[in-house]
Amino acid sequence: MKALVYRGPKSVAVQDVPDARIERPTDVLVRITSTNICGSDLHMYEGRTTMEEGRTLGHENLGEVVEVGDGVDRIRVGDRVCLPFNVGCGFCANCERGQTGFCLSVDSDTPGGAYGFAEMGTYAGGQAEYLRVPWADFNCLVLPEDAQEKENDYVMLADIFPTGYHATELAGVSPGESVVVYGAGPVGLMAAYSSMLRGASQVLVVDHQPDRLRLAEKAGATAIDDSDGGHVEKILELTSGGADRGCECVGYQAHDADGHETPESTMNDLVASVRATGGIGVVGVFLPQDDGAPTELTRQGKLPFDFGQMWFKGQSVRNGQANVKAYNRQLAELIHHDRAKPSFIVSHELPLDKAPEAYRSFDDRDAGWTKVILKP
Ligand code: NAD
Ligand code: ZN
Repeated sequence: MKALVYRGPKSVAVQDVPDARIERPTDVLVRITSTNICGSDLHMYEGRTTMEEGRTLGHENLGEVVEVGDGVDRIRVGDRVCLPFNVGCGFCANCERGQTGFCLSVDSDTPGGAYGFAEMGTYAGGQAEYLRVPWADFNCLVLPEDAQEKENDYVMLADIFPTGYHATELAGVSPGESVVVYGAGPVGLMAAYSSMLRGASQVLVVDHQPDRLRLAEKAGATAIDDSDGGHVEKILELTSGGADRGCECVGYQAHDADGHETPESTMNDLVASVRATGGIGVVGVFLPQDDGAPTELTRQGKLPFDFGQMWFKGQSVRNGQANVKAYNRQLAELIHHDRAKPSFIVSHELPLDKAPEAYRSFDDRDAGWTKVILKP
């Protein structure tokens, strides 16, 4: 089958790989019809992870079940399913608590598994014609009859819609509160959108990419351009002294193609932008520090910020992978009943063989490349 594989820093290619197949009785095989490129793929694409050459990328997957293992009883051939990016067993101590982003049964050194992801197990990705889904009764979200009509909305349930929602949950967004979101990438836009769904009175989105800021405005948020600094003062003014809640949706940024000076992290800005005793949710990814010889590529796990400032403001910070399953059934209902339309961020729908160009443009932040859906 054809798949998009990692070949080294900034190099991916579509090539023939061994067919995905049922390996355990609890697996199903899915023919992928939509699979997104994510900001998280860029950590691997840019070469700062342990991703092995030849592995298939892709953790935001949706498709049709074409084969089921003997031990599967809920999922049927023909079901259209969206697959949460977390691979979870459903029965370990963390999965039982709903913390499916931290499954203890996956084949990974750290808790939590994902398709096509370094540091999170050896599961193949779904930027391919077919995908093997482990513990399929647990890991498939079966979609309703409008699955095909709203496929570009439902595929956002694999990761970024629940992840944006998770940021607002970690930050503790309640109706009537003000929220500042750092980052207007797909995840930040979904955090802003989720804040509105949760009844925020005011949503401010900070970035310096004009096209992404325009999308934030289109969704009803106030865009704050941080190109020339002064954004924190602007936020304090608009929120009368600090937003109630803040979301970090940037994570480690290796570079900025347009020469914009990216600070080591947005945490100081968040601590300054959120009011005393407010809440901050961090979903941006900072990869673990390598204990070996530090290189430019393994420093990103350290997150320097003014802990003292945060402590004196009594703010709470929560962070981590989104537990997609905790939210995606409810978010699917919002899509089904026309209460949410996360596909407003989709900029490109492309066949799988255009993936290498799409990675290049998304990584370089070429104007207008916000969210790419590959259609194998
Ligand atoms: P992205 O790289 O497309 O978006 C990041 C945005 O941040 C860009 O628009 C960039 O211009 C902006 N930015 C850079 N520096 C900034 C700064 N100092 N202030 C404000 N904005 C700044 O990525 P994405 O797909 O939106 O993902 C964002 C982060 O979320 C990544 O780190 C990704 O790995 C992470 N993520 C986490 C989870 C999770 O479960 N926790 C899931 C998905 C993605
Ligand atoms: Zn993702």
